[in-house]
Amino acid sequence: MGRRITILGSTGSIGTSTLDVIRGLGPEYRAAGLAARSRWRELAEQAREVRPSAVAIADPRHAADVRPLLNGATELLVGAEGLVELVRRPETDFVVAAIVGAAGLESTLAAVDAGKTVGLANKEALVVAGALLVPLAEARNVDLLPIDSEHSAVFQAMAAGRRAEVRKVYLTASGGPFRTWTAEQMASATPADALRHPTWSMGPKITIDSATMMNKALEIIEARWLFGLDVDSIEVLVHPESIIHSMVEFRDGSVIAQLGTPDMRTPIQYALTWPQRLEGCARRLDLSTVRRLNFEPPDLERFPALRLGFEVARTGGTAGAVLNAANEAAVEAFRENRILFGRIVEIVERVLERHDVVPDPDLQTLLEADAWARREVAECLNA
Ligand code: NAD
Ligand code: MG
Repeated sequence: MGRRITILGSTGSIGTSTLDVIRGLGPEYRAAGLAARSRWRELAEQAREVRPSAVAIADPRHAADVRPLLNGATELLVGAEGLVELVRRPETDFVVAAIVGAAGLESTLAAVDAGKTVGLANKEALVVAGALLVPLAEARNVDLLPIDSEHSAVFQAMAAGRRAEVRKVYLTASGGPFRTWTAEQMASATPADALRHPTWSMGPKITIDSATMMNKALEIIEARWLFGLDVDSIEVLVHPESIIHSMVEFRDGSVIAQLGTPDMRTPIQYALTWPQRLEGCARRLDLSTVRRLNFEPPDLERFPALRLGFEVARTGGTAGAVLNAANEAAVEAFRENRILFGRIVEIVERVLERHDVVPDPDLQTLLEADAWARREVAECLNA
C-alpha cells in the first residue's frame, strides 16, 4: 500500500525528515507535492530530486526565483491559495501538515476537506481549530494521524485497549534546556540559551516553546482533540531522557508506553506507513547503554505555561486561538531580542486574561481572535 505524499513545510525540520523517511521507504512512497514559505532555493533543490507534480511557494515574492529552477514536469503554485490547490490535487492522497504555527491551518483544513489522509505535525492547527478540524475529519471519513512524538506514542498505546477503558494519558516532556535553571536564571535567558535543546533537534519556534514548556501546553490541547479526552485524564510527566514518548494507563492498572530514540523520523514513518510497520532508519534504542530512565513532576511555578495549557484546554472556544497567537507573537519578539525570556508566558497570560472567550466559534471568529491576540501582544510590546 504505497502513498503519494504532499509535504506542507518541506524545507523545515519535519519536512526534511519526512523526505528522509520517504527516501528510505522505497518507490511505493513518493513525494507528489512540496510547499514552503520562502526558502525557494531549498524548495527547488528538493523538487529537482523528487520530481513532484507540483510545488507551492507561499510567499509570492519568490515565485519568479523558483520558476526557472523547476523542470517541465513540476508545476508551480503560488501564495496561500496555491497551497490549498496543492493539497486538493488528485495526484496526492496523503498530506504531511508540517508548517509551523497557525499559518498551517488553512491548508490543513483544505486537505481534510478534500478527503486526504493527514499526518499532523502542525499542532497549532488543532490548538486553534480542533473543534472544527476533528468533526470535519469525521464527516469526510479522514484519518488524522499524529506525527508529534507524544501523540504518536499515545496513538500506538491506545491500540492496546478500548477508548472507554483509558484512565489516564501521560504526556512526557524532556523539560527543555531550562529544566534545572532557577526562575531568576530563566528570566533573562537569551535566544541562544533557549535554542539549545538537550534531546531533540527541531525548528526554532518549537524549540523555544520547549524551553517555556508552552510546547507541552499546546500538546495537552492537541491530545484533548486528537483522542477526544477529558482534560482531567491528561497528565504531564517530565522525563529528561526523551526515551518514553508517552504512556496510556488503562482502568485495570496496565500502563502501556511507547519507547524509542529521540528521532522524529520514527513517528513520521509510522504515520506514513500506518497501519503497517516497515523497516525504519532511526538509530535503534539500546536500553543497556541508556541504563536509567528518570521522571519528575513538572514545576508549575517555573513553567506557568503548563497551567495555561490545562486552563485553555478546559475553556475551549476561542481560548486556544488566543493562547496560540499570543505565544507565536511573543516568541517572535523574544527571538528578535525585543523581550526577555521571562516575559513570553507573562504576555500570553495577560492577553488571555483580557480575552472574552466566544464559545463554539466558526472559522472566521477563530481567525479574528488570532488577529486580536497578535495586536494585543504588539500593544504590550509598545507599552
Ligand atoms: P521549521 O521552522 O523547521 O519549518 C517550518 C516549515 O513551515 C518550513 O518549511 C517553512 O517554509 C514552512 N512555513 C512557515 N510559514 C509558512 C507559511 N506561512 N506558509 C507556508 N509555509 C510556511 O518547523 P518544524 O520544527 O519543522 O515544525 C513544523 C511543525 O511541526 C510545527 O507545528 C511544530 O510544532 C511541529 N513539530 C515539530 C517537531 C520537530 O521535531 N521539529 C516535533 C513535533 C512537532
Ligand atoms: Mg512533541
